[in-house]
Amino acid sequence: MSDAEQPTDDHGPGTDSDDEFEPIQVFPEAEEMDLRPGADNCYKCSTCDTNCPVAEVDDEFPGPKFQGPEQWRLKRQEDQDIDDSVMKCSNCMRCDSACPSEVPLSQMHNTARAEYVEQNMSKFSREYWRNRMLANYRTLAPLGAMFPRTANFVTGLSVTSWLGEKVMGITSERDLPEFATETFREWWTKRGGAKIDNPDKRIAYFHGCYANYNTPEVAKALVRVYEHFGYEVMVPDQSCSGTPMFANGMLEDARRATETNVSELAAALEDGADIVASCSSCSMSIRQEYPELFDFEGTEDVASNTWDAVEYLRVHEDLEAALADASVDDERFEDFAYHAPCHARNQGLDGQTVELLALIDGVEAHDVGDSCSGISGTYGWKEENYETSMKIGEEMFEHMEHADAEQGLTECPTCSMQMGHGTGYEITHTLEVLAAALLESEPSQSPSSAD
Ligand code: SF4
Ligand code: SF4
Repeated sequence: MSDAEQPTDDHGPGTDSDDEFEPIQVFPEAEEMDLRPGADNCYKCSTCDTNCPVAEVDDEFPGPKFQGPEQWRLKRQEDQDIDDSVMKCSNCMRCDSACPSEVPLSQMHNTARAEYVEQNMSKFSREYWRNRMLANYRTLAPLGAMFPRTANFVTGLSVTSWLGEKVMGITSERDLPEFATETFREWWTKRGGAKIDNPDKRIAYFHGCYANYNTPEVAKALVRVYEHFGYEVMVPDQSCSGTPMFANGMLEDARRATETNVSELAAALEDGADIVASCSSCSMSIRQEYPELFDFEGTEDVASNTWDAVEYLRVHEDLEAALADASVDDERFEDFAYHAPCHARNQGLDGQTVELLALIDGVEAHDVGDSCSGISGTYGWKEENYETSMKIGEEMFEHMEHADAEQGLTECPTCSMQMGHGTGYEITHTLEVLAAALLESEPSQSPSSAD
């Protein structure tokens, strides 16, 4: 019997102790699809609702308490359809972190969303195909990356944005992200792979889609920083982390991506590597969503050996001492307005960037508070969510503008898009600052010498 199937006595205050936990089979054919313990622990305190950024600005969204425990109880009692409002949840996971009773809210949302899409959303609707397309960026991006200049020209045309909104329901208010002229994996191959061979210090890098196709400078910074500390970097084959698929209820797509990633990453673990990710949503997905939703061989091992790239160095190296000796003399890296992504908060990582950057001579990161950026992956790209997304982001934009900085810093690619969109600032990834600090301080290893 798995932990999730154990009846639990650990009920929250006000809960009927006779109402013992019974596993809910959302997908009866998928035995592993079960809720982690805590499903019956809701004592209706509404803390999740007051922490939900969508409920805060959208009066029609019933909030996480309804999406999770209430809808769950209703489903248990009668044959009732999942409410379509579950598609308005952005999957930011702030409710998960806020719940004092460890109710598995995001797991409930992910499974409910998948059931809604499977059973209630027309497979001929524009919404279904738009969501499928947004969720499967990993399938479309290689096409753009084959002819990046042409793709960037076409996606930059106003007629393309207009058509995207009219035909697919993708907001025309945002600029589509540009493709890099050389992907990270192309650079990696051209470079001849790892420069350091070290069986005692090995990491497998999960770069995700965006750092590969759009911001290879982030992935290159990771390689440089890890090689600076003597690590052998492995770059295993990989699919999308699955985050946008979970958020859109595309569970079968997520299942395929997860199976590939678990198999490749488990093989890297066998080769003595730990897994690190540069995107906070990728690390969250591998650590939390994979073991909550799937049970492929090696899933738990992969989840428990995956780290955020900066967190890993803090734990395994004396990163603080290295940064205290480092300095940056580059105005692009002087002052940042820093936003901690919701998925970094969810992993308890929200304080580390500001703390670390404070050690570097010549760099300062000003925390812009704990609000959500509002874009939440694909959520803010949907025409019908654009205004809500920008309303959620208002607090962050305001704090960025009041911070003593004219550029932004974060670890999430879509938060980065929202930050740039709302303020016009250039946005940098924390690893780029670390690479500049650590490598500039050692002339023999200037950032470009790692190419
Ligand atoms: S925060 Fe947790 S316990 Fe409180 S209402 Fe939400 S799910 Fe229930
Ligand atoms: S995941 Fe975010 S948007 Fe969804 S219900 Fe929870 S707090 Fe609200």
